[in-house]
Amino acid sequence: MQEAELQLIDGRLVLSRETAGLWLGLGYVRAALEKSGFKVGQPVLPGGAPQDFTDSLTEIFNNNNSGNILFIGCHSVSLPMVLEALLRTSPCRKARKVCLGGPGTLRLSRLLMERFTFLDAVVEGAGEDAAVEIGGFWKGGPFPRSRNLVIRVGEKIIGKAMPADSAAWFDLWPYCEMPLNGSHVAPVAWSRGCDCNCLHCVVSDQNGRLQRKDLDSVMGDIHRLMTDHGIRHFDMIDDYLGGTRTAVEQFCERAEKIDITWNCSLRTEVIDESLAARMFSAGCRHVYIGLESACQSIRSALGKPSPLAEALRAVEHCRKFMSVTCSFIWGFPFESLPDFVRTLALIRELRADGVDTASSPFVPFPGSPLTAEYAGKLIYDPDLAPLALGLFDKLPEIAQGLVRKHPDIFTAFGLLPDENFHRKVRLYEEFQQLN
Ligand code: SF4
Repeated sequence: MQEAELQLIDGRLVLSRETAGLWLGLGYVRAALEKSGFKVGQPVLPGGAPQDFTDSLTEIFNNNNSGNILFIGCHSVSLPMVLEALLRTSPCRKARKVCLGGPGTLRLSRLLMERFTFLDAVVEGAGEDAAVEIGGFWKGGPFPRSRNLVIRVGEKIIGKAMPADSAAWFDLWPYCEMPLNGSHVAPVAWSRGCDCNCLHCVVSDQNGRLQRKDLDSVMGDIHRLMTDHGIRHFDMIDDYLGGTRTAVEQFCERAEKIDITWNCSLRTEVIDESLAARMFSAGCRHVYIGLESACQSIRSALGKPSPLAEALRAVEHCRKFMSVTCSFIWGFPFESLPDFVRTLALIRELRADGVDTASSPFVPFPGSPLTAEYAGKLIYDPDLAPLALGLFDKLPEIAQGLVRKHPDIFTAFGLLPDENFHRKVRLYEEFQQLN
């Protein structure tokens, strides 16, 4: 076996290997590196309970000696654990370069490089181009030009990360040796990015404007997954499928010619009953719709493009043919208690109608316009942070230290100032118990 030059580490915090699934972003980075001639080690995914995540990573950093360059992808929620594990192991990693990437680094590259001096580079957002360039540079190649990369050269930190807008992923096959593990479902991406800029969302900051790859190429990916892996069900992981009615119709036209089923997220303004029926006959079995709130004023404040009544009609159309999940976010400072109660009432109504619902308080991820607006005013409460993150009974002590020390980096563990927040939490917990 060839010795690896680079090692990819999946630094997400996932509940278990079994539920981890495939992180397509890391698969694309790996495919880009291999296409450029790098020898990449099999990506490592830490296992174990969320509370033990730092220990699992520490063990990996201590014992996995594959490659002189470590690329670590992380989410905002796992960022303090990843950094803590790197801090603990920095003496034994002297000869290895460390590059941090993934959604968790969004808008943070310079701060991370300034405060955590063991980091050699940070990539924000889509990392295919940047990973190839930084790997090449560390092997003696030219200085990287990717605009979403910040790099340490001697005492200097060079770069000012901007959203990536690369189309490098269009032609890559991200599934190579990734843990499909006999799964009957595979994630497939048709697009990245979004042209809207909703206040609570990080998609356009992370992936730039909407980029859709050619539909032939998407169908090629689906055919190859069917042929090589026997997969018949596909999770379309686009932030929303197609974006326009015509695009959704074009996808249906291709999908109805093959024997597959699929799920997707949808923009509600494109849906009417006839399109919902067509999606079903083309194999769609589940749609995910972000309603966010039962109040038009909240949706408008967030910048959601369609009126609430239209969105609810879309839910109704889809529900006739397939299962539907509607998601809600609460805890905005401009959401009054009656607004919040109205949202709980809509959740109850939808559930009674057989619609699945998902709801959570707003998490101030770096990169959302709302987080930027409240920068410096976020409140850190270790007892409420887990509610926002949904992963722990209690935020591990190990994370608390770094979060308290760098609240401007770990904003995802904070709360927006909202005088009603504690009342909302109590009502929400009672509601969850009763419904
Ligand atoms: S919430 Fe949806 S429409 Fe709004 S910016 Fe995010 S992905 Fe785009």
